[in-house]
Amino acid sequence: MDKIYDLIVLGAGPAGLTAGIYAGRSRLDVLILEKGQDGGQIAITEEIENYPGAMVEGESGPSLVARMTKQAEKFGAQRQSDVIKSVELEGDIKKLIGNKGTYLAKTVIIATGAFPKPIGCENEGKFVGKGISFCATCDANFFEDFEVFVVGGGDSAVEEAIYLSKFARKVTIIHRRDQLRAAKSIQEKAFANEKLHFLWDSVVVRADGEELLDTIVVKNVKTGELTEIHADEEDGLFGLFGFIGYNPNSALFEGKVEMERGYIVTDVDMRTNIPGVFAAGDIRAKSLRQVVTAAADGAIAATMAERYLEQ
Ligand code: NAP
Repeated sequence: MDKIYDLIVLGAGPAGLTAGIYAGRSRLDVLILEKGQDGGQIAITEEIENYPGAMVEGESGPSLVARMTKQAEKFGAQRQSDVIKSVELEGDIKKLIGNKGTYLAKTVIIATGAFPKPIGCENEGKFVGKGISFCATCDANFFEDFEVFVVGGGDSAVEEAIYLSKFARKVTIIHRRDQLRAAKSIQEKAFANEKLHFLWDSVVVRADGEELLDTIVVKNVKTGELTEIHADEEDGLFGLFGFIGYNPNSALFEGKVEMERGYIVTDVDMRTNIPGVFAAGDIRAKSLRQVVTAAADGAIAATMAERYLEQ
């Protein structure tokens, strides 16, 4: 007969790994399932400035998450890499069906996170990886001494633009309004950075080039005016980075768990509307998506899963 875990955690970002740490410490038989690399979004975040205690010299998203992974393993959380294709969450035993096998558990914590929203311009798909990117940490070094454009005006866009300015010759933030949404402290850093420029009230409507991205068409949303921006002839290409928010990784749970605009609804104890099923981290409908809130959700969800099992 297939093994029945006390708890399966789906997703190994800060929420899932923290749930693994707490469940492991409580001696639950816990399995963490992850389809890719650990860390979720922080695996592609260069600088984590605001996670309490994360002031270690050279701390990055990947280094923080590597310690979380070690900690979960230390407390006995088991790991499996698999892509889950369907789930059956009703009843006492939950079933998760993946490419490599079927996993059974008495409780489940959904911590599948969110993924970056596309910029939404014409030809976007054609140039992803050929000039268009959603990860500064992964791709900044390709643009050493080149020109780079960043779409968005939130914390991610401005922080990543600052990071990109360590590599690129010039970084221009293209924002659809004339004011940034980013926290004031981040804005101050950006306005003081000489390599950073701003194109206000503008959106990118088209990407172009032969093989690599060398042209974008930008529309002024107030006047409707279209402007073509070409790469410097000597460069022959430039970078376009999108940081305009995230979409939740929740398609698997549609119609199975209560959701709000694609995010899973929970109570303050991370319970979903299905008994024994909890959600934690960016996948939840909530107002602040941060590493610290994801970790807190994971701790609560694992503790509540343990209480559910005791009952
Ligand atoms: P966000 O705060 O939702 O900002 C998205 C930005 O993209 C906004 O400026 C928005 O413009 C713009 N935008 C949205 N859709 C667009 C479209 N279709 N075309 C053009 N622009 C568009 O997203 P985020 O910056 O990724 O941050 C997500 C969460 O993570 C936030 O809670 C943020 O505070 C947090 N975060 C924190 C840190 C940190 O504290 N170190 C770092 C990264 C992220 P409008 O302003 O006009 O809406």
